[in-house]
Amino acid sequence: MSTITPEIQALGEDFRGELVHPGEPSYDELRKVWNGSIDRRPGVIARCTGVADIRAALAYARRTGGPVAVRGGGHSFPGHSTCDGGVLLDLAPLKGIRVDPVRRTARAQAGVLLGELDRETQAFGLATPAGIVTHTGLAGLTLGGGIGWLMRKYGLTIDNLLSVDLVTAKGELLTASEDVNADLFWGIRGGGGNFGIVTEFEFRLHPVGPIVYAGPIMWPMTESPRLLRFYREWITDIPDELTTAVMHRWIPAVPTIPSELHGVPVVVVLACYAGSIEVGERVVAPLKAFAPPLLDLCAPKPFVDLQAMFDLSFPHGRWYYMRSSDVAELTDDVVDVAAARGLAINGPLTSYPIFHLGGAISRVPADATAYGGRASGHTFNFVGSTYGPEGFEEQRQWARDSWQALEPHQSGVYVNFLTDEGTGRIRDAYGAPTYDRLQALKQKYDPNNLFHLNQNIPPH
Ligand code: FAD
Repeated sequence: MSTITPEIQALGEDFRGELVHPGEPSYDELRKVWNGSIDRRPGVIARCTGVADIRAALAYARRTGGPVAVRGGGHSFPGHSTCDGGVLLDLAPLKGIRVDPVRRTARAQAGVLLGELDRETQAFGLATPAGIVTHTGLAGLTLGGGIGWLMRKYGLTIDNLLSVDLVTAKGELLTASEDVNADLFWGIRGGGGNFGIVTEFEFRLHPVGPIVYAGPIMWPMTESPRLLRFYREWITDIPDELTTAVMHRWIPAVPTIPSELHGVPVVVVLACYAGSIEVGERVVAPLKAFAPPLLDLCAPKPFVDLQAMFDLSFPHGRWYYMRSSDVAELTDDVVDVAAARGLAINGPLTSYPIFHLGGAISRVPADATAYGGRASGHTFNFVGSTYGPEGFEEQRQWARDSWQALEPHQSGVYVNFLTDEGTGRIRDAYGAPTYDRLQALKQKYDPNNLFHLNQNIPPH
């Protein structure tokens, strides 16, 4: 059965990268995204090698009118980077990275993964703040904001973004920075893929590591209420160099942890001190003294090892469902919900981190970028997960119930942690003034909503 239409044939004549059609040997592998519960069949997968390919694929999409999906690392929780029918622009071949160690900047193309960027920047003892799993795509993470282990010291990923090159819905190539197309630069820093396809990012870099004082400290999950009450006081007085998160989970079966502890329910504080090892050790000491840990892996280690710490816990292909909310503070009520939802975990792969925000993030004015969570205190991510379809519904329900229990206390949500939750929640992520401004920008750059497979901001 041939799926090659005359339009696809015309695209083929104008395309340098690979075009992969249903039925071809690599099609099923290439249509996969990180979340195994998402199973879609694009009409054609266009593996773009540069701006010319992106323009050709967009021209094809405009001619045929089908959906356009854009994929960086493929880690969108709800699977926005794939589609049924239409065209999937797979940017994975765009792997170029160039570090300028003198100016302390890096240029990275749209197919780069977080670990690939760290590898190049750490060769010079430098880094830009990004996320906590190395196989996440740099593009999608950056366009939503970008939280991670360096954020309290150096801000979000977008706070270190200097410029982008972007192809618009019409196929124009634009640069956006504080000085050029400044409205667009404001919008892409939090507004996701709504305004065009970013082909290249330019970041500011900072000296980091290469050895940092970092890692997890674990206590039995029953300690959670006491630990969270201690933790909320302790973090009021920690320096910005220290970023932490609290995680509730069953200990994963990974080689770095003794096998007799696998499956034990724990509350974990994960820490990264982005400064001297000695000071980091001193700053974390009171936490370690809170109560004797069940397991303490917080110690000097290569920054790149810290960045890979969660890679085995969240691999490609498992089934995932996530619900997320921000809260301003860990009040008694929030602590009670947090501890109860930890004890309610009923599967070995299900877990939830609570990220501590603030620091440099909160010092950027709220209207300087489109990111909506500058005033948030903590981000909760309830992640229900299974190896496959078996038992998935139960874990999804746990995530929904957890989110519901936290709902009365929530103060917003980070757009990159939304699933498909409707326009109201997207508004919640930005707040009304920013959302309205984003809608006007969408009207200017993508009035026909060609780029709608994202946390969509429809044009006015
Ligand atoms: P994709 O699925 O490829 O794309 C996501 C969205 O971005 C889609 O709408 C897509 O169309 C759009 N997009 C992708 N590339 C481009 C481009 N070049 N131009 C325009 N639009 C584009 N977030 C954090 O902030 N910090 C974390 O620590 C963190 N950890 C995570 C760990 C895991 C395991 C996962 C699954 C997600 C994590 N996230 C984190 C959330 C992450 O930021 C989002 O899932 C993000 O969308 C992933 O980017 P991607 O390129 O892999 O996504």
